[in-house]
Amino acid sequence: MKKATAGWVCSELDDEYGELVWRSHGEPLDALVQTILSQATSDINSGRAFDSLRRAFPGGWDTVRLAEEKAIADAIRCGGLADSKAPRIKAVLQEIYERTGKTDLEFLKTTPTDEAKAFLTSFHGVGPKTAACVLMFSLGRPVLPVDTHVFRVSHRLGLIDEKLGEARAHGALQSQLKDTEVYAYHVHLIRHGRRVCVAQQPRCEECVLGARCAYRREGGKMSRRSLAQNLPGTLHGL
Ligand code: SF4
Repeated sequence: MKKATAGWVCSELDDEYGELVWRSHGEPLDALVQTILSQATSDINSGRAFDSLRRAFPGGWDTVRLAEEKAIADAIRCGGLADSKAPRIKAVLQEIYERTGKTDLEFLKTTPTDEAKAFLTSFHGVGPKTAACVLMFSLGRPVLPVDTHVFRVSHRLGLIDEKLGEARAHGALQSQLKDTEVYAYHVHLIRHGRRVCVAQQPRCEECVLGARCAYRREGGKMSRRSLAQNLPGTLHGL
């Protein structure tokens, strides 16, 4: 039943927002750094910070790894939380270098998905959402990132239990989707969560998903804990 609903959601949102074709959002290491920069800021700000970082270090990620934290922080200042993100970026680049002998993640292109996911999540501070962003956006793997919008809309639709929380919702939602639906589900639900199924006052009267929505069926009486969240936090460019 939930699988059928998840597939129906993809189809309805394809009609609403247009069918999506996956395109790579860059090299895997680019996607990892972008995802770190995207945390707790808007897509516009994190995009600016990423572009500024690339401009400040034209020699590539190895030069960022070897740079002073302050220089990295100065380069990403426009993205917010620069003083906490700069050491994280430097540390993850250093750890990649120590474990692979290079400052890149090219090898993930030919690594099986489960192995690649295990590799990424073994890094300090890299959780399932960040790993999924790298695997899906950069490599086109069917691994679903669950951000606050995907979680909130999926919960309202009745596809996941709120008690799961974002961290454990990845597997539960992923199991309801065909591999070919994962990318569209993620991108469409973010768009829908920003435009229609917003955190505080979902615009149910103009929503194309109302016919199968638990929240609407229950007259908007679902728990409001997850609904109160409306934080940005995904790759820029969506
Ligand atoms: Fe969200 Fe309302 Fe649409 Fe349900 S009907 S998905 S609660 S906007």
